[in-house]
Amino acid sequence: MEADVVVIGAGPAGLQAGIHAARKKAVTVVIGRTAGSAAYGVKLENYFGVAGPAAGTALLTTGVQQAESFGCTVVTANVTAAVKAAGRFQITAENGKEYTAKAVVLATGISRIKLGVPGEKEFLGKGVSYCAACDCNFYKGKTVVVYGGQSEAAASAELMTKYAAKVYWVAPAFEVDQTMVAKADRADAERIAASVTAIKGEKKVTAVVLADGRELPADGIFIELGGRSSADLAMDLGLMPEIDNTVRIDRRGSTVVPGLFAAGDITGRPWQVAKAVGEGAVAGTAAADYAKKAE
Ligand SMILES: Cc1cc2nc3c(=O)[nH]c(=O)nc-3n(C[C@H](O)[C@H](O)[C@H](O)COP(=O)(O)OP(=O)(O)OC[C@H]3O[C@@H](n4cnc5c(N)ncnc54)[C@H](O)[C@@H]3O)c2cc1C
Repeated sequence: MEADVVVIGAGPAGLQAGIHAARKKAVTVVIGRTAGSAAYGVKLENYFGVAGPAAGTALLTTGVQQAESFGCTVVTANVTAAVKAAGRFQITAENGKEYTAKAVVLATGISRIKLGVPGEKEFLGKGVSYCAACDCNFYKGKTVVVYGGQSEAAASAELMTKYAAKVYWVAPAFEVDQTMVAKADRADAERIAASVTAIKGEKKVTAVVLADGRELPADGIFIELGGRSSADLAMDLGLMPEIDNTVRIDRRGSTVVPGLFAAGDITGRPWQVAKAVGEGAVAGTAAADYAKKAE
C-alpha cells in the first residue's frame, strides 16, 4: 500500500499522530498493537479533562475508533523492517504486508527495566508500579519501597515522602549525585543499601524481601530502574539513537533524517500520556505537511 504517512506504534503518541495526519487529509496508516502500549491496562488519574482513575485501555480503544473515523487505517501488527531508499520509506509488517510512505512517525515507546524477582509480575498493578509520578496518589498514608540507585529513584523517593506515611529508598548502591541523596534524606526517606530478592503479598503487596533476609512491611514498591526505548527501528531508518537510547527531535517532532518524525516515550522523559499525545499531535501534523511537499 502507498501512504503519505506511516505511523509506527499504536499507543497514545502514535494514535494521536495518526489522528492529526489523517485530519490533514494525508493518506495515513498506523501500524502497532494497542495491547503493546504502556497505557494498556493502566489506570490514569492525571490526564487533562478525564476524571480518574480512567482506564488506559478504554482511551486506546477510543483512540483507534477516532483515528479510523478520520480515514486513518489502523493495522494490528508489529513492524519487522523499515528502510529509507530513494526518498521513500519502505515498511514491512509482520503479516508480510508492505507499505511505502513519504513520511514516517516513530512512536514505539519504551520498555521499563524489570527487577526480575518473584512477585513482580504477580503483583503488577496490585502494589508493584514502575512510575511514582503516575501512581503516587494511590499510596496516600501508606508504606512504600522505592527501588533503584539512580536519579529517577532519588526523585521518586522524595516525591513519595509527600504522599506515603513511610518511604524506604532501597538500592544496592546509591550512584546518584549527593545533593539528590541529601534531598531524599531531608524528606525523611529511609535509605537501605540492599538488593530486593522478592515481593510478597496475598491479594496485594504486603512486604518486600531484602537479600539479607529482612522483610520490609510495605503496601507497594516502585521499581525505578529506568527504561529502554524501543529505538531499534530508528537505526534501520538511518537515525542513531542518543546514548540513553532515546531519539532526539526538534519542536516540530522532526529527527535529523528528512521525513522521519518521532513522538512519545521514545523521545525521553517524562513518560506520560500528556506528553505523548502532545508530541503525537505535533509530529502527525508535521509529517502530513512534509508528505504534501514531497509529492
Ligand atoms: C504501570 C504504568 C502506569 C502508568 N501510569 C501513567 C499515568 O498514570 N499517567 C500518565 O500520564 N502516564 C502513565 N504511564 C505512562 C504512559 O502509559 C506512557 O507515557 C504512554 O503510554 C506513552 O505513549 P507512547 O505512545 O509513547 O508509547 P506506548 O504507549 O508504549 O506505545 C508504544 C506503541 O508502539 C508499539 N510498538 C513497539 N515496537 C513496535 C514495532 N516494532 N512495530 C510496531 N509497533 C511497535 C507498541 O506495541 C505500542 O503500540 C504509565 C505507564 C506504566 C507502565
